[in-house]
Amino acid sequence: MVYDVLIAGAGPAGCTAALALKDAGLKVLLLEKSIFPRDKVCGDAIPSRAIAVLKTIAPELATEMSTFNKLLLTKRTQIVYNTRSLHFNWKIPAYTCTRMDFDNKLFGMVEEHTDTTIIQNTRIKTITKTSEGYAVADDKGNVYNARLVIGADGAQSIAAKQLAGYKLDREHHIAAVRAYYKNVSGVDEHRTEMYVNKQFSPGYFWIFPIEGGMANVGFGMLSCDVAERNINMKQSLQDFINTVPELQERFKQATAVTGIEGHSLPVGSRRVTMSGAAFMLVGDAASLIDPITGEGIGNAMLSGRLAALQAIQCFGKNNFSAGFMLAYDDAVWEALGGELSFHAKAQKVLRQSPWLLNIVFALGKIEPIRRLMQKRF
Ligand SMILES: Cc1cc2nc3c(=O)[nH]c(=O)nc-3n(C[C@H](O)[C@H](O)[C@H](O)COP(=O)(O)OP(=O)(O)OC[C@H]3O[C@@H](n4cnc5c(N)ncnc54)[C@H](O)[C@@H]3O)c2cc1C
Repeated sequence: MVYDVLIAGAGPAGCTAALALKDAGLKVLLLEKSIFPRDKVCGDAIPSRAIAVLKTIAPELATEMSTFNKLLLTKRTQIVYNTRSLHFNWKIPAYTCTRMDFDNKLFGMVEEHTDTTIIQNTRIKTITKTSEGYAVADDKGNVYNARLVIGADGAQSIAAKQLAGYKLDREHHIAAVRAYYKNVSGVDEHRTEMYVNKQFSPGYFWIFPIEGGMANVGFGMLSCDVAERNINMKQSLQDFINTVPELQERFKQATAVTGIEGHSLPVGSRRVTMSGAAFMLVGDAASLIDPITGEGIGNAMLSGRLAALQAIQCFGKNNFSAGFMLAYDDAVWEALGGELSFHAKAQKVLRQSPWLLNIVFALGKIEPIRRLMQKRF
């Protein structure tokens, strides 16, 4: 059997691609190495874009997700630089939710609302070009054939490596760790918190509230800085808590309910090739995480939808050439290129001259300028 579209990976990018193909009349296969519900190391902040993307596919999908009882509404954020802090209100509400719950909900929506053939517990090993499209082999010796492949297999993407020749570039990767805590004092369930501190520069620390009185607590830093300074990320997370006086106080009664786990974030600080003959890469496989905020879920879902729209074009025109696929790259960059490029520049400047944050925080105390900054968020 030859499938029309094979989606590699059932995270937010892959599931959104499957949802966006629900009415296309194509034979879609979704392959996933884990068995849902499965965890994904993340900060668990679900950007408003995630719901907005579902709305563009079908308003009832957005409603189903935004009323999911595990989602916690966040309305504001606090950013602390050494001892200074700034508060911003979100223009559009965002959410937090453990990825265990959020991804499982999204996966359930694919099961419920689409005719996608889903195979879990199958790890893709190789993707080989054939005359019809691609042959995808898994770890159990099964081979699946498809005319078009959507690579949605995350930060360590096999599809990106084998189809687009991606190699790790630490200048464009963030390394991050996180753990779940309970009893962190002063956690406001509608507010996310980010901390930057000169002792841990150029890293950043976060506390994101999670349903049930928990907090997702993490620390991230550009991978090239981690390598150059030989940083132990897990230790840095604990040191951050034990060194910053305000956090020391707030974590006095806190207990970690999980170990500290890490994962990498391929950021969109440069435009990469996202497609080729009969394939597209989406989400982390296409390096689409925001280099400043570290948010990738909304961008993953947006690219998943755009890849589905391009797939429909390919079948409509019977054109799977690399040249035709470039329309997908252009659509992604038109939607995200402006903000990714702006944030990439900001990240570069702040990394070279972190003292500039003093000016940013001083300016942020002036109300009209703070409002402008808030708009930019
Ligand atoms: C520590 C940390 C904190 C973060 N915090 C945030 C945050 O707060 N908010 C935010 O928006 N983003 C955050 N991100 C980024 C976010 O996690 C990713 O951008 C998002 O998960 C991308 O979705 P995806 O579908 O592209 O990839 P993934 O979510 O990684 O999904 C990929 C899927 O493919 C499967 N897979 C992988 N390899 C194979 C294979 N060989 N065969 C079959 N299946 C395979 C995986 O099991 C997985 O289900 C964070 C990332 C990290 C590491």
